[in-house]
Amino acid sequence: MALIVQKYGGTSVGSPDRIKNLARRVARFKALGHQIVVVVSAMSGETNRLINLAKEIMPEPDPRELDVMVATGEQVTIGLTSMALMELGLKAKSYTGAQVRIVTDNAHTKARILSIDEERIRADLNAGYVVVVAGFQGVDESGNITTLGRGGSDTTGVALAAALKADECQIYTDVDGVYTTDPRVVPEACRLKSITFEEMLELASQGSKVLQIRSVEFAGKYKVKLRVLSSFEEDGEGTLITFEDSENKDSNMEQPIISGIAFNRDEAKVMVLGVPDKPGIAYQILGPVADAKIDVDMIIQNMGADGTTDFTFTVHKNDMTKALGILNQVQGHIGAREIRGDDKIAKVSIVGVGMRSHVGIASQMFRTLAEEGINIQMISTSEIKIAVVIDEKYMELAVRVLHKAFELEEA
Ligand code: ASP
Ligand code: MG
Repeated sequence: MALIVQKYGGTSVGSPDRIKNLARRVARFKALGHQIVVVVSAMSGETNRLINLAKEIMPEPDPRELDVMVATGEQVTIGLTSMALMELGLKAKSYTGAQVRIVTDNAHTKARILSIDEERIRADLNAGYVVVVAGFQGVDESGNITTLGRGGSDTTGVALAAALKADECQIYTDVDGVYTTDPRVVPEACRLKSITFEEMLELASQGSKVLQIRSVEFAGKYKVKLRVLSSFEEDGEGTLITFEDSENKDSNMEQPIISGIAFNRDEAKVMVLGVPDKPGIAYQILGPVADAKIDVDMIIQNMGADGTTDFTFTVHKNDMTKALGILNQVQGHIGAREIRGDDKIAKVSIVGVGMRSHVGIASQMFRTLAEEGINIQMISTSEIKIAVVIDEKYMELAVRVLHKAFELEEA
């Protein structure tokens, strides 16, 4: 008997039939003697619908109020899912994030989980219930409803698995695993049987939408066994996230150098031009941005010339206006010549643990892009990743040629 947390995404609960289907799958696992916790997202499209609704009233919705209303999407699906399980003769009970005490900080719309009171869930499981928990939401210490950021149900699933010390956390989605890249962009993309946790973390942070990055961080921190599976297949092994390079890899097969390519249209570039080249400038620029809880991704500072330099960084597109506003306020103080934003950019990243032991990967990437006449605006690297910022309109082309250049069709 195992304790399994199963998380179902929006498409998997997108209609009553699909919810019934989900319930049948849960019933099969239950019949094998397992204890099951189900985490569900809102029905597909529902979160977007709610956000758009909010924007019709308030163009930049108040974060606390936005959380109160978008959290209702998941509240609908937990009730429906429990009912579907009951219709199959199972004992089921649903809980919102607040009911089950998923306590978060108070960073509305991107809250972080601080603690989960798993006692209640455990008691229900021991009493034979399937426990259905709303993904994406929690409650802060003062009782305000919070949400965990888009795709946050993954994090709820993994966090519950960690808190309950579950044997496996299964993420059911509309794809049957993690692919070398998005098959909608590259039809030749292949499913990976396994991928290391580090690679998955990079892919998620670089824009792969399969798993929310926080869920991967959580899985890494608590060593949660995580598997991505299709909710439309009866059986398929999906993609297992492993913790060692060698684990679960076919030892006869040479491991590919690059495991995957991620891309991301969600970032915007903020340029602070002509700032004095002296100590403290980076802090004066990014300090107020950080104080406004705006996440910064890539950062580039050019070499100084004539005592000034240019400072460029990327933020989420939604945060660009806010970041520009903050910088305009401190422009005089910093002594910057100009502050500019550009949201017509895309980031394309290649990821693979094989980079550690191979040279020339960056040059191969840059050559491939150069051959297509694609200009690279920014570059950042880690031990297992190379990311470039390019003009948004070349994004799909870049992904396709890189997929081919690194022979990922044969992965
Ligand atoms: N419903 C939320 C969203 O669309 C959370 C999730 O699906 O994971 O972002
Ligand atoms: Mg998702």
